[in-house]
Amino acid sequence: KAGVVRLPRWLKTDIPTGSSVGAIRKTLRELKLHTVCEEARCPNMGECWGGGKHGTATATIMIMGDTCTRGCRFCSVKTSRSPPPLDAAEPANVATALAAWGLDYVVLTSVDRDDLADFGSAHFAATVREIRARAPQMMIECLTPDFQGRAELIEPVAQSGLDVYAHNIETVESLQGAVRDYRANYKQSLFVLEHVKKSKPTLLTKSSIMLGVGETDAEVLQAMRDLRAAGVDIVTLGQYMRPTKRHMKVHEYVTPEKFKHWEQVGNELGFVYAASGPLVRSSYKAGEFFISEILR
Ligand code: SF4
Ligand code: SF4
Repeated sequence: KAGVVRLPRWLKTDIPTGSSVGAIRKTLRELKLHTVCEEARCPNMGECWGGGKHGTATATIMIMGDTCTRGCRFCSVKTSRSPPPLDAAEPANVATALAAWGLDYVVLTSVDRDDLADFGSAHFAATVREIRARAPQMMIECLTPDFQGRAELIEPVAQSGLDVYAHNIETVESLQGAVRDYRANYKQSLFVLEHVKKSKPTLLTKSSIMLGVGETDAEVLQAMRDLRAAGVDIVTLGQYMRPTKRHMKVHEYVTPEKFKHWEQVGNELGFVYAASGPLVRSSYKAGEFFISEILR
């Protein structure tokens, strides 16, 4: 049909339905955990949950509810100005559930909670501390909101005992307003990453950029340079995929070769690790990387 951009072959993958994923799903329902892996119907589930070649099972868990106070144009999470209150038992429940699952690497992420006085900072930090207490070996990455750029709300999470602090700039500077919620912006996100490093220099920091939303090459290069200047250690670049017709359109499907190019650029710029590919997501095989590159 005219006007419809067909999905290129490199983006066609099977949604995993294998028995191991099925068993994990059942456990997750029993434990009342919500994974971004499932909600975003992430094509990498089989690989991440199964552990890949290094046997590092990774999953992304969403805390602080399923309703966001923001409305980014690429995101399929439901939104409301006043989501239900936080569940005070959640930090302990998540930790108990994760310890029982026996994951090697967990990515904790959340909706944005601009309705709360501290935007959820204390709850986020408490969840990390509870996991640390119950599963001391588990590696923990947090993918956090921007906490509206408030240093005193970023610090408790940075100091909570996590291994990797991730916050996404999402796109190049000129497209921030078109892609993200009006409360988010480029400088504020760079400040978050910079401040985390300042607050705890040994922490690895990480950020992601979605490609295919209308950015130019010069802008992508600038964004990568800006991340390095903010002390960011890990960068990931992936293709934007439109979740539904109500979301912003895909401007272009970036070729695998181009993604490879950005990976090389990332290495040249001095990132500890740069992952770039059509299916790469912020948390894509994060644990596998961590074990193989950082702890070797
Ligand atoms: Fe989605 Fe995060 Fe934006 Fe909320 S802040 S709409 S969860 S991308
Ligand atoms: Fe889950 Fe992230 Fe892996 Fe996708 S890439 S399956 S969201 S951990």
